[in-house]
Amino acid sequence: SYVGIHATGFRDFLLKPELLRAITDCGFEHPSEVQQNAIPQAMLGTDVLCQAKSGLGKTAVFVLTTLQQVDPVPGETSVLVMCHTRELAYQIKNEYARFSKYLPDVKTGVFYGGTPIQKDAEILKNKETHPHIIVATPGRLNALVRDKHLRLGSCKVFVLDECDKMLEQIDMRRDVQEIFRATPTQKQVMMFSATLSQEVRPICKKFMQNPMEIYVDDDTKLTLHGLAQYYIKLDEKEKNRKLNELLDELQFNQVIIFVKSTLRATELDKLLRECNFPSIAVHSGVSQEERIKRYTEFKEFNKRICVATDVFGRGIDIERINLAINYDLPADADSYLHRVGRAGRFGTKGVSISFVSSEADQDVLKQIEKRFEAQVP
Ligand code: ADP
Ligand code: MG
Repeated sequence: SYVGIHATGFRDFLLKPELLRAITDCGFEHPSEVQQNAIPQAMLGTDVLCQAKSGLGKTAVFVLTTLQQVDPVPGETSVLVMCHTRELAYQIKNEYARFSKYLPDVKTGVFYGGTPIQKDAEILKNKETHPHIIVATPGRLNALVRDKHLRLGSCKVFVLDECDKMLEQIDMRRDVQEIFRATPTQKQVMMFSATLSQEVRPICKKFMQNPMEIYVDDDTKLTLHGLAQYYIKLDEKEKNRKLNELLDELQFNQVIIFVKSTLRATELDKLLRECNFPSIAVHSGVSQEERIKRYTEFKEFNKRICVATDVFGRGIDIERINLAINYDLPADADSYLHRVGRAGRFGTKGVSISFVSSEADQDVLKQIEKRFEAQVP
């Protein structure tokens, strides 16, 4: 099967019974291929550099293996997980909540920018609330370390999700490096992404010792088999009418529409709501509290249409999204792969439609078709 399901079960990993119970509650029946390959090594403390296509369960690899290893000492953080956006941090924290349901002593905290740092400091000051596992964006985490609200002397596991994105962005990379230097030398390092170029791999490995490396070296294997990809050639000024038509005619559960700027997200969302579409917009132009509120509203199926910038382009996992529309085509093939991967999670069926209007768009489309040998009719 394209999900890579074999006869192996989660029981074969010898995880704690509390974790196995939670896995059953989550409805996971069989580990995916990446989970089968990475979990046995990761739970032994081996460093892991892991590429696997989107939607096939990389999160559970680090969530389960860190929960397996964590020994909750009051006032000490032993697991650090970093990712590139606040919504993703929030989502990962919720995954920890799901899987640690039967491990009541393990506390997970989430920290990200755009919220009062004093609140985070309070949580860290009190032994009763100090998390054993922290999920965070690097800017806020580094600020907490720099201001000595957080000490990392007990850190045993260091995880980067969407690692290529985090290490390619200079400011984020600097924060990650500073946080890394504040942790003990002896620790486990794990990194994950659906895209790991030849250029970024050595950068990742600088943080690691003899990592287990899992790559998808054939780009054509990165495309999702359950995803039908299409494009529509049109003029910029025809985009709204076409979108309106598509939303009327296509049957979808939830749709995510990607645009290239916060301004365009705000405008398009407004337009859709004026046409009585149940739309919501998520981008960096709204307050952080409001952003998480909207993310939750969409995730909980109170809205069916989400207009987003690349804030939602990676990592975000919303089960009911089965249509992804590139209202504005992204600038490169990697971003395209991540974006359309929001539809068709865990092998389910999905559709992506990309608007192609400029010559630059046509070039990007050519790149996509060539690299992934994708048929984009
Ligand atoms: P990735 O990070 O690789 O893109 P995620 O970790 O976000 O993928 O997982 C995608 C979806 O698949 C999530 O909703 C997750 O709960 C689900 N999932 C992960 N592993 C399994 C499994 N073994 N069985 C069923 N569903 C799974
Ligand atoms: Mg992920």
